[in-house]
Amino acid sequence: MSNFPLPKRGKRRAAGQSRSAKQVKKAMKKAADSPPKRIPYVRHGIRTVKPRNERARWRGQQHVIDAPKKHGHLPEAGASCPHCTKGTIGNLKKRSDKLGGWGHRCNHSGCHRHVLPHAIHPIFAAGTGQSRAPLRDQAPASLSAVAGASQVCTDRLVNKNHNMVGGIRGRLRATREKYVAAKGKSIKLGQGEAWKDTEADEVDLAKKMSEDGGPSPVDREQRGGIAERGAPDTLVLFRLKPTKTKKRASGPGGTRKRDWMPAAKKWLKGRRVILHADGAKSYRIKLDGVKYDYVAHCRKRVKVNGKCIRARPKYTKPRYHTVAEDGAPKKKLRVMAGAQVIDRCWLGLRKHLGSAKVVNATSLRRKIRSPQWGHWKRGADYWQHTGDTLSDLWPKDFGQ
Ligand SMILES: [Zn+2]
Repeated sequence: MSNFPLPKRGKRRAAGQSRSAKQVKKAMKKAADSPPKRIPYVRHGIRTVKPRNERARWRGQQHVIDAPKKHGHLPEAGASCPHCTKGTIGNLKKRSDKLGGWGHRCNHSGCHRHVLPHAIHPIFAAGTGQSRAPLRDQAPASLSAVAGASQVCTDRLVNKNHNMVGGIRGRLRATREKYVAAKGKSIKLGQGEAWKDTEADEVDLAKKMSEDGGPSPVDREQRGGIAERGAPDTLVLFRLKPTKTKKRASGPGGTRKRDWMPAAKKWLKGRRVILHADGAKSYRIKLDGVKYDYVAHCRKRVKVNGKCIRARPKYTKPRYHTVAEDGAPKKKLRVMAGAQVIDRCWLGLRKHLGSAKVVNATSLRRKIRSPQWGHWKRGADYWQHTGDTLSDLWPKDFGQ
């Protein structure tokens, strides 16, 4: 085996520097025969993949009116009439009456109204007067909002003013918020096969000077999150109550035990999960069915050849847990510690919030729920899922 040129790094370098060619060959053979055991970061469910938005293909871009109709964004024939709620609406037909355009007809004897396909709709507006915009303009604006295009970009594409586009975006966020609030109640972590990997972390989102002043005058907005690896639809977010800080403080610090304890009891107690978090002391509480480990991202000082250097931070590392299954002997689990999944959530959340941040406001809650919905549906066809979300909420919340 030729050792020239000597590789810059890796096993061959280490071997080539210190040992004879024969020893190197032996070491290489040993490495090839017994490769190091790889611990998968996501052990259950959906493997985490990089978001490749440029490769994503949705089914929504066919025709501006067809598309929302096809994917559940508009009510079907047979849905109850949004005006009288007693009758049902017929097939969508081109109507020649004064209102013009496409419409359904209510079959109730006391109503018989011409019903626009987007009448009393959670996302589209069917107003009259100056603010009126036809569905063929609203549908592309809605598609752009779902696809994550900016408001300015959408304004230019559909050539309408910001009121129509802004309204659609706001109502889309409100719809997602309702959906997340409704579905969030039934989330259960650690379902199915026992001992799932679960990550917890907190994020600072906004700050504001409080009016009462004092030595620590800055109010902070901080959220905590728990998510199961391999199951994006289990992300739960909850509001934390951090202490006020001084003006120049870098942040309010980690989650406090009084905030973490109720959340951990609600979502993790008895669920047989391995909790991966940062090194904050609050996460170390002992609970039934919860094993804890952590990775601190600090850059440690290490001594190499007598010199102190800053080692690069570690984001994941192998850990071992001995766990007891129901009725089965104890077994040793090899897992990768780290909080990469939830860190990626924060990335999406911060991107979505942009610079407009306020402490304790409805608008902020909506803006947080919207990326949470996005995380639940990660990697899927958002346009189709928006239709499904509307269909799910239709009978209960939208009076249909
Ligand atoms: Zn009716």
